[in-house]
Amino acid sequence: MSNKEKIIITKIEEVSDDSALLEQADISVCLEETEENIARVPPMWRNDIGHGNCAMCGTKVFFRASAAPPNAKKLCYHCAMDEIGDSENPIFLTRKSGADQLREYLKKKDQN
Ligand SMILES: [Zn+2]
Repeated sequence: MSNKEKIIITKIEEVSDDSALLEQADISVCLEETEENIARVPPMWRNDIGHGNCAMCGTKVFFRASAAPPNAKKLCYHCAMDEIGDSENPIFLTRKSGADQLREYLKKKDQN
């Protein structure tokens, strides 16, 4: 199995918002800033969009401004997968508060 395939099946760990692990994160995986991707941002996060450029290829990316790990370089999805593909045991993190908000949103969306 290639490292990239392993990454795809890697679990995402939910950590508390003040977890020290977030400060140690090397990479923040961001989506490319396209109209289509921006349109998919759940309503509760629309006012919390930060804009930047991929640290490797310069592509315009966006992210949740209040949630981006402070010391991590922002990479577009493609560069992030290339970069992470070379590392031994990458750990994927997400903030528990964000995961909870997303679950709540998806639950409501299902009911409509
Ligand atoms: Zn890139």
